[in-house]
Amino acid sequence: MSLTPHLQPSALVGEMPRQVKQRRNEPPIELGWPGFCPRQPRLVLPIFDDSGSVSLPGGGDPIGNRYQEAQRAFEALREWCSCGKCLAGVLHFDTPRGDVDPGKLRSTSFQGQLASGLRIPRGAAGSSVLGPGLTRAEDIAARFPKHEVRLVVLTDWQLFDTDNVLERLRNFPGTMLAIGLNASLPSPVDGHDIVGLRIAHDDPPGAVARALFGELTVGRRGRRFIATTAIEEATA
Ligand SMILES: [Zn+2]
Repeated sequence: MSLTPHLQPSALVGEMPRQVKQRRNEPPIELGWPGFCPRQPRLVLPIFDDSGSVSLPGGGDPIGNRYQEAQRAFEALREWCSCGKCLAGVLHFDTPRGDVDPGKLRSTSFQGQLASGLRIPRGAAGSSVLGPGLTRAEDIAARFPKHEVRLVVLTDWQLFDTDNVLERLRNFPGTMLAIGLNASLPSPVDGHDIVGLRIAHDDPPGAVARALFGELTVGRRGRRFIATTAIEEATA
């Protein structure tokens, strides 16, 4: 997908979108330009699987750096929300301890709260159970009926839920991006109403950041979105 803005940010505010800094000696990750706030505000809600199969060493791989990359995507919106209604939060699989209740992306202090939730929560059991976090996501969606809630599930899909959790995902009252971390999506999830995306250890850095940036900027006017090859394949 390619959306070319009619207005370039440099023409509007005399400032080019800042590149998000990557670690030393690594090239910066280009995310694009967030564009202008949509009429219907969005609430982007990533939910992270911290089980051992996902949480093992990071280094430069997009899976290991998923939290750092998510923070980059959130920060990219901070200076571009003029409406004050663009929200985000963080959820985790097996403990609410690291969750961050939704707040305003343009708030510097809230960005700090988001950052504090973008790590493996202390005391996380690392269970591969999606259900409790999904229940919290459903509660949040009910609390923000005026927002389009965009759930982003990041997991290897080795789930130990005993109920029909995939059916609940399909019925989530909002949109859903299902990310398979070094794994393909199970067929009940990989349907017409859910966008799937596979991100592997050997994908170039930035895949998670770009996927979240894509969700954060859906419907924003004039956004410039640099899709990864993987995303283009997933949405083709
Ligand atoms: Zn906004």
